[in-house]
Amino acid sequence: MVNAPPKRGAHIELQDLSKSYANLNAVEKVNLSFDAGEFVTFLGPSGSGKSTTLMMIAGFQVPSSGDIKVNGNSIIQQPVHKRNIGMVFQNYALFPHLSVAQNVAFPLEMRGVARNDIAERVKRSLAAVRLDKFGDRRPAQLSGGQQQRVALARALVFEPPVLLLDEPLGALDAKLREEMKFELKQLHQSIGATIIFVTHDQEEALTLSDRIAVFNHGKVVQYGTPEALYNQPESRFVADFIGESN
Ligand code: ADP
Ligand code: MG
Repeated sequence: MVNAPPKRGAHIELQDLSKSYANLNAVEKVNLSFDAGEFVTFLGPSGSGKSTTLMMIAGFQVPSSGDIKVNGNSIIQQPVHKRNIGMVFQNYALFPHLSVAQNVAFPLEMRGVARNDIAERVKRSLAAVRLDKFGDRRPAQLSGGQQQRVALARALVFEPPVLLLDEPLGALDAKLREEMKFELKQLHQSIGATIIFVTHDQEEALTLSDRIAVFNHGKVVQYGTPEALYNQPESRFVADFIGESN
Protein backbone atom coordinates (compact mmCIF):
# COMPACT_ATOMS: atom_id res chain seq x y z
CA MET A 1 0.00 0.00 0.00
CA VAL A 2 3.04 2.26 -0.50
CA ASN A 3 1.29 4.16 -3.29
CA ALA A 4 -2.00 4.71 -1.47
CA PRO A 5 -2.91 8.42 -1.31
CA PRO A 6 -3.19 9.98 2.15
CA LYS A 7 -6.72 9.70 3.57
CA ARG A 8 -8.37 13.07 3.67
CA GLY A 9 -11.92 12.06 4.51
CA ALA A 10 -13.71 13.45 7.54
CA HIS A 11 -15.00 11.68 10.63
CA ILE A 12 -18.77 12.07 10.98
CA GLU A 13 -21.10 11.52 13.91
CA LEU A 14 -24.88 11.52 13.95
CA GLN A 15 -26.22 11.91 17.49
CA ASP A 16 -29.89 11.20 18.23
CA LEU A 17 -30.64 12.72 14.84
CA SER A 18 -34.39 13.08 14.28
CA LYS A 19 -36.74 14.66 11.75
CA SER A 20 -40.50 14.74 11.92
CA TYR A 21 -43.05 16.06 9.44
CA ALA A 22 -46.41 16.84 11.10
CA ASN A 23 -47.06 13.58 13.00
CA LEU A 24 -44.66 11.42 10.96
CA ASN A 25 -41.27 10.51 12.42
CA ALA A 26 -39.29 10.31 9.15
CA VAL A 27 -35.99 9.85 11.04
CA GLU A 28 -35.95 8.84 14.70
CA LYS A 29 -32.94 9.06 17.03
CA VAL A 30 -30.31 7.90 14.58
CA ASN A 31 -26.89 7.36 16.16
CA LEU A 32 -24.09 6.52 13.74
CA SER A 33 -20.38 7.19 13.46
CA PHE A 34 -18.33 7.02 10.26
CA ASP A 35 -14.55 6.84 10.16
CA ALA A 36 -12.58 9.19 7.92
CA GLY A 37 -12.38 7.69 4.45
CA GLU A 38 -14.96 5.01 5.11
CA PHE A 39 -17.49 3.86 2.47
CA VAL A 40 -20.81 3.58 4.33
CA THR A 41 -24.13 2.54 2.82
CA PHE A 42 -27.61 3.42 4.03
CA LEU A 43 -29.71 0.42 3.00
CA GLY A 44 -33.45 0.15 3.46
CA PRO A 45 -36.85 0.09 1.79
CA SER A 46 -38.49 3.11 0.22
CA GLY A 47 -39.70 5.59 2.85
CA SER A 48 -37.36 4.38 5.60
CA GLY A 49 -35.65 7.77 6.07
CA LYS A 50 -32.43 7.36 4.07
CA SER A 51 -32.79 10.49 1.90
CA THR A 52 -34.01 12.62 4.80
CA THR A 53 -30.90 11.67 6.77
CA LEU A 54 -28.63 12.61 3.83
CA MET A 55 -30.46 15.92 3.34
CA MET A 56 -29.85 16.81 6.99
CA ILE A 57 -26.13 16.01 6.66
CA ALA A 58 -25.88 18.12 3.48
CA GLY A 59 -27.90 20.95 5.04
CA PHE A 60 -31.00 20.88 2.81
CA GLN A 61 -33.21 19.76 5.73
CA VAL A 62 -33.14 21.06 9.30
CA PRO A 63 -33.19 18.35 12.00
CA SER A 64 -36.05 18.42 14.53
CA SER A 65 -33.51 17.40 17.16
CA GLY A 66 -30.10 15.85 17.57
CA ASP A 67 -26.68 16.80 16.25
CA ILE A 68 -24.30 16.21 13.33
CA LYS A 69 -20.57 16.49 13.94
CA VAL A 70 -17.77 16.58 11.38
CA ASN A 71 -14.32 16.02 12.87
CA GLY A 72 -15.85 16.75 16.28
CA ASN A 73 -17.55 20.05 15.39
CA SER A 74 -21.31 20.51 15.12
CA ILE A 75 -22.35 21.65 11.64
CA ILE A 76 -26.10 21.97 12.05
CA GLN A 77 -26.00 25.78 12.19
CA GLN A 78 -24.01 25.99 8.94
CA PRO A 79 -25.75 26.69 5.61
CA VAL A 80 -25.21 24.28 2.70
CA HIS A 81 -22.41 26.24 1.01
CA LYS A 82 -20.41 26.48 4.25
CA ARG A 83 -20.44 22.72 4.71
CA ASN A 84 -17.63 20.89 2.99
CA ILE A 85 -19.97 18.20 1.76
CA GLY A 86 -20.66 17.14 -1.84
CA MET A 87 -23.97 15.57 -2.78
CA VAL A 88 -25.31 13.70 -5.80
CA PHE A 89 -29.12 13.64 -5.80
CA GLN A 90 -31.15 10.67 -6.94
CA ASN A 91 -32.41 12.45 -10.09
CA TYR A 92 -29.02 14.26 -10.51
CA ALA A 93 -30.77 17.67 -10.16
CA LEU A 94 -28.69 19.26 -12.93
CA PHE A 95 -29.71 22.78 -13.99
CA PRO A 96 -31.24 22.22 -17.45
CA HIS A 97 -30.70 25.81 -18.64
CA LEU A 98 -26.97 25.76 -17.82
CA SER A 99 -24.21 24.07 -19.79
CA VAL A 100 -22.36 21.10 -18.33
CA ALA A 101 -19.40 23.34 -17.42
CA GLN A 102 -21.70 25.93 -15.78
CA ASN A 103 -23.37 23.17 -13.75
CA VAL A 104 -20.00 21.99 -12.44
CA ALA A 105 -18.90 25.60 -11.76
CA PHE A 106 -21.96 26.30 -9.59
CA PRO A 107 -20.65 25.05 -6.20
CA LEU A 108 -17.44 27.04 -6.73
CA GLU A 109 -19.40 30.23 -7.49
CA MET A 110 -21.49 29.63 -4.34
CA ARG A 111 -18.24 29.52 -2.38
CA GLY A 112 -16.83 32.69 -3.92
CA VAL A 113 -13.91 31.00 -5.70
CA ALA A 114 -12.01 33.34 -8.09
CA ARG A 115 -13.05 33.18 -11.75
CA ASN A 116 -9.66 31.96 -13.07
CA ASP A 117 -9.55 29.16 -10.53
CA ILE A 118 -13.09 28.13 -11.43
CA ALA A 119 -12.30 27.47 -15.10
CA GLU A 120 -9.25 25.41 -14.19
CA ARG A 121 -11.01 23.34 -11.54
CA VAL A 122 -14.07 22.70 -13.73
CA LYS A 123 -11.78 21.42 -16.46
CA ARG A 124 -10.01 19.09 -14.05
CA SER A 125 -13.24 17.80 -12.54
CA LEU A 126 -14.79 17.08 -15.96
CA ALA A 127 -11.60 15.33 -17.05
CA ALA A 128 -11.77 13.13 -13.95
CA VAL A 129 -15.16 11.78 -15.09
CA ARG A 130 -13.99 11.68 -18.74
CA LEU A 131 -16.32 14.43 -19.92
CA ASP A 132 -13.75 17.09 -20.81
CA LYS A 133 -15.17 17.35 -24.35
CA PHE A 134 -18.73 17.91 -23.16
CA GLY A 135 -18.49 21.18 -21.23
CA ASP A 136 -20.53 23.19 -23.73
CA ARG A 137 -23.45 20.79 -23.95
CA ARG A 138 -26.73 21.02 -22.07
CA PRO A 139 -27.61 18.13 -19.71
CA ALA A 140 -30.48 17.08 -22.01
CA GLN A 141 -27.93 16.40 -24.77
CA LEU A 142 -26.22 13.73 -22.67
CA SER A 143 -27.05 10.08 -21.90
CA GLY A 144 -28.19 9.04 -18.42
CA GLY A 145 -24.74 7.74 -17.52
CA GLN A 146 -23.08 10.95 -18.72
CA GLN A 147 -25.53 13.08 -16.72
CA GLN A 148 -24.73 10.95 -13.70
CA ARG A 149 -21.04 11.72 -14.20
CA VAL A 150 -21.73 15.46 -14.52
CA ALA A 151 -23.54 15.31 -11.17
CA LEU A 152 -20.52 13.52 -9.73
CA ALA A 153 -18.11 16.09 -11.22
CA ARG A 154 -20.23 18.88 -9.66
CA ALA A 155 -20.14 17.17 -6.26
CA LEU A 156 -16.36 16.60 -6.46
CA VAL A 157 -15.28 19.96 -7.87
CA PHE A 158 -14.61 21.56 -4.47
CA GLU A 159 -12.78 18.42 -3.31
CA PRO A 160 -15.06 17.74 -0.34
CA PRO A 161 -13.86 15.33 2.34
CA VAL A 162 -17.43 14.02 2.51
CA LEU A 163 -19.47 12.80 -0.45
CA LEU A 164 -23.18 11.87 -0.23
CA LEU A 165 -24.65 9.75 -3.01
CA ASP A 166 -28.44 9.27 -3.03
CA GLU A 167 -29.24 6.20 -5.15
CA PRO A 168 -26.84 7.44 -7.86
CA LEU A 169 -27.17 4.24 -9.90
CA GLY A 170 -30.95 3.94 -9.67
CA ALA A 171 -31.80 5.49 -13.05
CA LEU A 172 -29.19 3.53 -15.04
CA ASP A 173 -29.66 0.30 -16.98
CA ALA A 174 -28.09 -2.90 -15.62
CA LYS A 175 -24.90 -2.80 -17.71
CA LEU A 176 -24.16 0.84 -17.00
CA ARG A 177 -24.91 0.25 -13.32
CA GLU A 178 -22.20 -2.43 -13.16
CA GLU A 179 -19.69 -0.09 -14.81
CA MET A 180 -20.55 2.82 -12.54
CA LYS A 181 -20.36 0.62 -9.46
CA PHE A 182 -16.81 -0.26 -10.41
CA GLU A 183 -15.99 3.40 -11.09
CA LEU A 184 -17.41 4.43 -7.72
CA LYS A 185 -15.10 1.99 -6.00
CA GLN A 186 -12.11 3.34 -7.91
CA LEU A 187 -13.14 6.90 -7.22
CA HIS A 188 -13.37 6.18 -3.51
CA GLN A 189 -9.87 4.73 -3.54
CA SER A 190 -8.43 7.70 -5.44
CA ILE A 191 -10.07 10.59 -3.51
CA GLY A 192 -10.14 9.03 -0.04
CA ALA A 193 -13.32 10.91 0.92
CA THR A 194 -15.82 9.59 3.45
CA ILE A 195 -18.67 8.37 1.25
CA ILE A 196 -22.26 7.80 2.30
CA PHE A 197 -24.07 5.87 -0.40
CA VAL A 198 -27.83 5.30 -0.36
CA THR A 199 -29.49 2.33 -1.97
CA HIS A 200 -32.39 -0.09 -1.56
CA ASP A 201 -30.34 -2.76 -3.41
CA GLN A 202 -28.69 -5.23 -1.00
CA GLU A 203 -26.28 -6.51 -3.65
CA GLU A 204 -24.91 -2.99 -4.26
CA ALA A 205 -24.58 -2.48 -0.51
CA LEU A 206 -22.78 -5.76 0.10
CA THR A 207 -20.23 -5.30 -2.69
CA LEU A 208 -19.37 -1.61 -2.16
CA SER A 209 -19.41 -0.94 1.57
CA ASP A 210 -17.03 -0.96 4.50
CA ARG A 211 -20.10 -0.74 6.75
CA ILE A 212 -23.86 -0.77 6.17
CA ALA A 213 -26.58 0.95 8.21
CA VAL A 214 -29.92 -0.77 7.68
CA PHE A 215 -32.89 1.61 7.92
CA ASN A 216 -36.50 0.68 8.65
CA HIS A 217 -39.32 3.10 9.55
CA GLY A 218 -36.89 5.97 10.25
CA LYS A 219 -34.64 3.96 12.55
CA VAL A 220 -31.29 2.27 12.10
CA VAL A 221 -32.01 -1.36 12.96
CA GLN A 222 -28.43 -2.63 12.51
CA TYR A 223 -25.03 -1.15 11.66
CA GLY A 224 -22.03 -3.26 10.77
CA THR A 225 -19.81 -4.76 8.10
CA PRO A 226 -21.39 -6.62 5.16
CA GLU A 227 -20.09 -9.88 6.68
CA ALA A 228 -21.62 -9.18 10.09
CA LEU A 229 -24.99 -8.25 8.61
CA TYR A 230 -25.00 -11.27 6.34
CA ASN A 231 -23.82 -13.79 8.93
CA GLN A 232 -25.30 -12.35 12.12
CA PRO A 233 -28.48 -10.45 11.30
CA GLU A 234 -30.01 -9.21 14.58
CA SER A 235 -33.57 -9.33 13.35
CA ARG A 236 -35.82 -11.09 10.92
CA PHE A 237 -36.09 -7.82 9.00
CA VAL A 238 -32.33 -7.60 8.40
CA ALA A 239 -32.11 -11.29 7.54
CA ASP A 240 -34.86 -10.94 4.94
CA PHE A 241 -33.52 -7.70 3.52
CA ILE A 242 -29.89 -8.81 3.27
CA GLY A 243 -30.37 -12.50 2.68
CA GLU A 244 -30.97 -14.49 -0.47
CA SER A 245 -34.73 -14.06 -0.19
CA ASN A 246 -34.30 -10.49 -1.47
P1 ADP B 1 -36.18 6.99 1.71
O1 ADP B 1 -35.15 7.88 1.13
O2 ADP B 1 -35.64 5.92 2.59
O3 ADP B 1 -37.07 6.41 0.63
P2 ADP B 1 -37.30 9.42 2.82
O4 ADP B 1 -36.26 9.94 3.72
O5 ADP B 1 -37.42 10.08 1.47
O6 ADP B 1 -37.15 7.84 2.66
O7 ADP B 1 -38.71 9.55 3.52
C1 ADP B 1 -38.96 9.10 4.85
C2 ADP B 1 -40.40 9.41 5.20
O8 ADP B 1 -40.57 10.82 5.28
C3 ADP B 1 -41.39 8.91 4.16
O9 ADP B 1 -42.54 8.45 4.83
C4 ADP B 1 -41.69 10.16 3.35
O10 ADP B 1 -42.97 10.10 2.79
C5 ADP B 1 -41.59 11.25 4.40
N1 ADP B 1 -41.15 12.55 3.84
C6 ADP B 1 -39.98 12.78 3.20
N2 ADP B 1 -39.86 14.07 2.84
C7 ADP B 1 -41.00 14.68 3.28
C8 ADP B 1 -41.49 16.02 3.23
N3 ADP B 1 -40.79 17.01 2.65
N4 ADP B 1 -42.71 16.27 3.78
C9 ADP B 1 -43.42 15.29 4.39
N5 ADP B 1 -43.00 14.00 4.48
C10 ADP B 1 -41.82 13.69 3.92
MG1 MG C 1 -34.76 8.29 -0.93
